[in-house]
Amino acid sequence: MIISMRPHATREEINHVCERIAEFGYKVHSIEGEERVVIGVVGIGDVTICLESLEATPGVERAMRISAPYKFVSKEFRKGRSAIKINGCEIGGDEFVMMAGPCSVESEKQIMDTAEGVAAAGARILRGGAFKPRTSPYDFQGLELEGLKLLRKAKERTGLGIITEIMSDRDVELVAEYADCMQVGARNMQNFALLKSLGGCGRPVLLKRGMSSTIKELLMSAEYIVAHGNPNVILCERGIRTFETATRNTCDIAAVPVLNELTHLPVVLDPSHATGKRSLIPALSRAGVAIGADGLIVEVHPCPEKAVSDGAQSLTLADFARMMSELKPYIRLWSEARARELAAV
Ligand code: PEP
Ligand code: MN
Repeated sequence: MIISMRPHATREEINHVCERIAEFGYKVHSIEGEERVVIGVVGIGDVTICLESLEATPGVERAMRISAPYKFVSKEFRKGRSAIKINGCEIGGDEFVMMAGPCSVESEKQIMDTAEGVAAAGARILRGGAFKPRTSPYDFQGLELEGLKLLRKAKERTGLGIITEIMSDRDVELVAEYADCMQVGARNMQNFALLKSLGGCGRPVLLKRGMSSTIKELLMSAEYIVAHGNPNVILCERGIRTFETATRNTCDIAAVPVLNELTHLPVVLDPSHATGKRSLIPALSRAGVAIGADGLIVEVHPCPEKAVSDGAQSLTLADFARMMSELKPYIRLWSEARARELAAV
């Protein structure tokens, strides 16, 4: 349920509404807004009676049921867009945000060269896996703590924010110490213990769509993180499994506007894992800008042929710089459209 208070409702009225909510056996999940307060309510009980009673309570303008199964991430809960801050830039705001970097952090030289190259080309956030989810247990599993330390060094050198994958609820505190944004990989989208613990991690979370997950399941996973206390979730389309074998995954490009209709959370596109092929990244990146994604997360490596993971889909630093400059006219149109949208609300 959401309870929308009248503009300038008094503190006493708000407190009284919260007491009534508790009397009905529900819990106040969040209280948002200053001039116009909106109270988010969760729990199980007789909704109809509760809504009727709250609508008659002083200070209340409207009491509404949220019909979507994902409550706090739905457009029913918040009409506009949520903008999420990561190290001085905002995803879901008026800037198209580029995140770039290697699949895995491999060495100091590799991550420093990449960080400097992508920062010079206009990226705002450096990606790089220190804990890697590999299909084979015999493949490189990541540098772990050493990788996190190298990411911190790259941040100190370039000022870029850091996004890195978190694979286990046991490592949340450690990764949160180094990361500006916690990445949940496709394989962990429904690791509910991990999602719950990210509710309290104090960092934004980029949640990647599972390779066999529906859009509804992605939103339900986002709801786990928000329901456990962290409203700062960014969604990522990274391709799903289909019968098609020409690409590593099938990029569900429609997922971006579908998500924009269903949720206020920002949505980014990962053209690298969606295709698995370097040559396809620029075209899909243009599509991502055109379709209204809030940003891209792209794999870049100084020498893809030597990459320990995902070399075939990694751009070189020169490829990335070229793509960034080719994207400029598209991003200009994106910015104009976004400015119009933000001015209209
Ligand atoms: C990655 O970002 O390197 C990665 C493993 O992605 P995904 O979880 O989408 O497969
Ligand atoms: Mn990868």
